[in-house]
Amino acid sequence: MRIVVLGAGESGVGSAILAQAKGFDVFVSDMSAIKPKYKEELERRGIKYEELQHTESLILNADEVIKSPGIPEKASIIKALRAQNTPIVSEIEFAGRYTNAKTICITGSNGKTTTTMLTYHILCEAGYNVGLAGNVGRSFAWQVAEQEFDYYVIELSSFQLDGMYDFRADVAILLNITPDHLDRYEYKFQNYVDSKFRILQNMTKEQTFVYWSEDPVVKAELAKREISASQAPFTIEYIEGNKAWIEGEELIIDFENEPLKVNINDITIKGTHNMYNSMAAAVAANIMGVKNETIRRSLATFQGVEHRLEYVATIRGVRYINDSKATNVNSCWYALQSMKTPVVLILGGTDKGNDYSEIADLVREKVHTLIFMGLDNTKLNEYFGLNTNCKIVDTNNLADAVKAAYEVAQKGDTVLLSPCCASFDLFKNYEDRGEQFKQAVKQL
Ligand code: ADP
Repeated sequence: MRIVVLGAGESGVGSAILAQAKGFDVFVSDMSAIKPKYKEELERRGIKYEELQHTESLILNADEVIKSPGIPEKASIIKALRAQNTPIVSEIEFAGRYTNAKTICITGSNGKTTTTMLTYHILCEAGYNVGLAGNVGRSFAWQVAEQEFDYYVIELSSFQLDGMYDFRADVAILLNITPDHLDRYEYKFQNYVDSKFRILQNMTKEQTFVYWSEDPVVKAELAKREISASQAPFTIEYIEGNKAWIEGEELIIDFENEPLKVNINDITIKGTHNMYNSMAAAVAANIMGVKNETIRRSLATFQGVEHRLEYVATIRGVRYINDSKATNVNSCWYALQSMKTPVVLILGGTDKGNDYSEIADLVREKVHTLIFMGLDNTKLNEYFGLNTNCKIVDTNNLADAVKAAYEVAQKGDTVLLSPCCASFDLFKNYEDRGEQFKQAVKQL
């Protein structure tokens, strides 16, 4: 059987290594240049590959294709494969065939990485033999090929879920659904919602679905669907049947054997959104048999994740926070919601069809100055100029944006980089944007 891997990043190279180990005839093709470290891996293992092109004659003869989540359906090679009905799967689907390890899979529009890292942290603290995979960590397929983990914590994007059919999670976490990536879903929100719900496919009573039951989109969708998995919903306010909720200053998790109560001040990650993430991770860990004491300790020692509401420095009484990972409007909403001081907000970048009305109330309530940072700030100027009384500063690079923030911020304020947008107009990616922000702040 011939397997063609499209895209030679971490997941593609991992898939090729696993496919080779399983005895397939493997070919890797990437439209861009392949990173040297991945080329070396392929060469060392004698895996055939090409870069900077997709040669149809070497691809269309595949029995199955493993596609990188970054390649859109509209790519001509994908269209050609679809036209001849070649099965196209994601790395997770492929690798899932070759492991019996228990999996905790995490999806949602926001909070995936934080919840994935936190869940992984708890399982590590519990001494489990656990791997970290999906959008974070190393390739799932690569680990399945070369390591023997008993558990995996896997972050799943909608693009990965789109290529999953027979895979089944043992615990599926759905954090929330808000519009994102609509450019990849024909601008139809329902398509994106359906994609997220694929995380539940093939589940039975033996597996558990952990979700935020007050999310309006999830709620509406659940009313339409039959869920075969066992359910473990969480909310802020107690609702009958819930697994986790907040009461005063305590996060409560209703584990059958013994409820767990944790003072929210002892949890290292802050803000309402992080309470959701903490509840989801704690419930998942409990399902995997982790003891209450270990969960409690882990919530108090988790270091958080870079570029997510990351504290950078306090300069002349002004706190600087890097939330570069806020690449959509909803994550900025949560960032603003967790702010306890007046805010100078830096936002802008590549717009993905954003609707800024979602954050308008919070901007009016908490932000005194908006600093736009993008190649094209027209939409931001139009929207916020009309709908808020904030002072507005227009910039088209990070140095100017940070300088402007420094000039307008008053003692006691927070300067928050939470851009609502993708970063590709000015940066390599959100990490690059966050790094540059931290550098610029440290040079003030
Ligand atoms: P993802 O991996 O889904 O992009 P991250 O954990 O990287 O999510 O967090 C991205 C941003 O989303 C954070 O900077 C934070 O502002 C916001 N966020 C985190 N968790 C949540 C949540 N549960 N609900 C809404 N927003 C969140």
